[in-house]
Amino acid sequence: MVQLYQPLNFMGLVYREVKQAVIDIDMMSAILGQTPEVSDRPDALPLRVTEGHLRFEDVWFRYDEKREILKGVSFDVPPGKTVAVVGPSGAGKSTLSRLLFRFYEPYRGRITVDGQDIAAVTQASLRDAIGMVPQDTVLFNDTLGYNIRYGRWGASEAEIAEAARLAQIDGFVAGVPDGYAAQVGERGLKLSGGEKQRVAIARTILKAPAILVLDEATSALDTFTEREIQDALDRVSRGRTTVVIAHRLSTVVNADEILVLDKGVIVERGTHDGLLGRRGIYSAMWNQQREAEAAEDLLRGIASV
Ligand code: ADP
Ligand code: MG
Repeated sequence: MVQLYQPLNFMGLVYREVKQAVIDIDMMSAILGQTPEVSDRPDALPLRVTEGHLRFEDVWFRYDEKREILKGVSFDVPPGKTVAVVGPSGAGKSTLSRLLFRFYEPYRGRITVDGQDIAAVTQASLRDAIGMVPQDTVLFNDTLGYNIRYGRWGASEAEIAEAARLAQIDGFVAGVPDGYAAQVGERGLKLSGGEKQRVAIARTILKAPAILVLDEATSALDTFTEREIQDALDRVSRGRTTVVIAHRLSTVVNADEILVLDKGVIVERGTHDGLLGRRGIYSAMWNQQREAEAAEDLLRGIASV
């Protein structure tokens, strides 16, 4: 038990995750053609999404023989529901999203969407059905408009503008000399992390995927700006099957189920209220984050005097 309590400070103010370069996987496959690890079976069929029901069934995974990363993970995300995954850095949270995209495959167990094993469907159809807002969005060295339109090439100007509005990046675009034609990236406009994330949200709104994966940024000190993004994220996930790798209290509180992942095992699960009542790991994490946020607000108050 003592060991289980060690990761508790992960949500504290001092907590920093060295941000792993989680690449936009859509973009990655666009660049590489396909992922090197996994290829389509000869008899692969397109995924047929009917409701967007996602299941992980006894999933075991390791990147190499030396270390197990996921040890029998099972959970269910009914159509339109939201499951939040919390836990310390290195627990295997982002790995769940990599498996869902079939960037890698479990060596035991399976992942299904509407009853179809994702290992048996084409990767293209699987990735069409899933939208991802990663913790660090990488943009193309192209225009702002291109970066949003990437979500759905056929989108009209009006649809792009609407997606930008919902993602709350429209104000930013309006303030830029060339607007949607503005070049971003290395030889263009430098966007902040929050702006990039909102571009990714706009892209995902256009894509309108059946299943949504959000990998929230982790830095506690970012929570102030992240609150602006929260609304946009809430809008995208509403009525959509959503897995959120969560760091913000608001997402966790509203989730239909919360999974606490530690060293590749789900050690607690339930609703926010249910887990608080258990007074276990989640409730300790919750109290700690509340204190950290209070301290942060206090510091901000002092700084602004
Ligand atoms: P989390 O998102 O919970 O912080 P990850 O799922 O990213 O954790 O990683 C789980 C574990 O797998 C970590 O210990 C990490 O170092 C390891 N890991 C991640 N990616 C790779 C990889 N490509 N090869 C080997 N180990 C990896
Ligand atoms: Mg991660």
